[in-house]
Amino acid sequence: MADYDYDLFVIGGGSGGVRAARVAAGEAGAKVALAEEDRYGGTCVIRGCVPKKLMVFASEFSDVAEVGNAYGWNMTSGTFDWQNFRSHLNNELDRLEGVYRSLLKNSGVDTFDARAKLKDKHTVELSDGQTKTAKTILVATGGRPVRPDMPNAHLGIVSDDIFHLETLPKSILIIGGGYIACEFACILHGLGVEVTQYYRGAQILRGFDDEARGLIAEAMRDRGIELHTGTNIVQMGLASDDHTESGPTGSDAAMGASVQQENVMANDGTADEASAGRGGPIWVKATNGRERVFDMVLFATGRDPNTDDMGLEDLGIEIGRRGEIVVDEYSKTAADSVYAIGDVTNRVNLTPVAIREGMAFVETAFKDNPTAVDHDLIPSAIFTQPEMGTVGLSEEDARDREEIEVFCTSFRPMKTAFAGKPDRVLMKLVVSKETRKVLGCHIVAPDAGEMIQLAGVAIKMGATKEDFDRTVAVHPTMSEEIVTMRTPMRTA
Ligand code: NDP
Repeated sequence: MADYDYDLFVIGGGSGGVRAARVAAGEAGAKVALAEEDRYGGTCVIRGCVPKKLMVFASEFSDVAEVGNAYGWNMTSGTFDWQNFRSHLNNELDRLEGVYRSLLKNSGVDTFDARAKLKDKHTVELSDGQTKTAKTILVATGGRPVRPDMPNAHLGIVSDDIFHLETLPKSILIIGGGYIACEFACILHGLGVEVTQYYRGAQILRGFDDEARGLIAEAMRDRGIELHTGTNIVQMGLASDDHTESGPTGSDAAMGASVQQENVMANDGTADEASAGRGGPIWVKATNGRERVFDMVLFATGRDPNTDDMGLEDLGIEIGRRGEIVVDEYSKTAADSVYAIGDVTNRVNLTPVAIREGMAFVETAFKDNPTAVDHDLIPSAIFTQPEMGTVGLSEEDARDREEIEVFCTSFRPMKTAFAGKPDRVLMKLVVSKETRKVLGCHIVAPDAGEMIQLAGVAIKMGATKEDFDRTVAVHPTMSEEIVTMRTPMRTA
């Protein structure tokens, strides 16, 4: 057998890669190395789930005084200090990165702070000039946000940039209608930014249950987010100084449009990269012809897998249409010794899924226990305000497959109704008429993410509607409604 430097070389120090490396080393006794070109912890910890959720928490304090006063407190709303928050946030991210580094160190994993690419099926070339060989190579390089292919798109920021902003803008235009667009629309609105969102489709959060996403869209508008569906951006450029002064930022900027037009045409995308996303007010033209100026534009238009210049194609590894590594159910690529997990495979792009894929990989490649990852019935949450928690099929997908009964209720939750707020909650079960199994559960409510985790256990176990029915309600809670819906709202 060939003599390799390592049993396993992992490329990428995000959630999936770190978990696979330390389990392979710690539990399977493998000799493991890991290379990371950026910060340890990857997208989730450094520029995704964790800082995003902390920003969600920060943004939720904006109406505490209003609600508190209705409960008899005498509170005044304070102001939000971004710099103060950001410095706490950076300290927390530094701490977490340290935790990730020590997890690897304590498991005996050798780490390289370098970019790695594949030289052959068993060899990794590092940007510091070193070359390492390994019996097995795991690619866990994640993904990155992408801007649309249009002139001046570099003027807009992407989600990675938000955590580094020196100051929050007064107004922002968010492009997109997916997780990131909707979550940041709510976060930034909560932090006091004037938020406008353009989504090219008919309704935000495509692919999720229609009723649930409809309620979220309505709640976002009620809170003051200016959400335009069926609308996209067609042109953008730096607004002229004259123009910025011609009206409040974010206001209709049709006046002086011809001047702006010239500015935009003159800007051939060669603007100083350092000023990308921070070059002053930005003029945009929408598909409906409307022209406006915003302090900032955020592109939340999807993420692409990180497979560029990795040497993958040279090894016969198949790359899909979006740039993803094509793998089998065991996360193995077309090259026997090379596996890939997480967002770089563009299967289900969620942190806990990448971690599962990493664990299954270790079972398969190091514990002689071939384990396919189960991608069925994955609960997830969207941290909009209100949140959505969801597991299983939407009503629309379920009714395409079989006859269903839909149980659904919407109401004003006690806590905010008492304070006179219009917020509504939605609880919904999609049930198979034949097997009685709950095929989908969709909750729009404060803390819906916490609720759906537990509903997810029951549904993964194959719970029927009658199992929900015979479970006693926890009173008084919002989630009790999930076990008290007796009559189907409709059948389909
Ligand atoms: P999504 O794929 O969810 O959304 C991308 C959005 O951008 C869609 O609304 C899409 O429209 C729109 N879009 C794409 N291209 C263009 C374009 N050229 N012009 C205008 N609009 C465009 O990606 P996100 O970036 O929001 O999130 C990436 C992934 O990260 C998610 O799929 C999810 O797996 C993960 N994530 C999970 C979170 C969670 O669990 N809470 C939070 C954040 C991210 P259309 O619908 O028409 O295609």
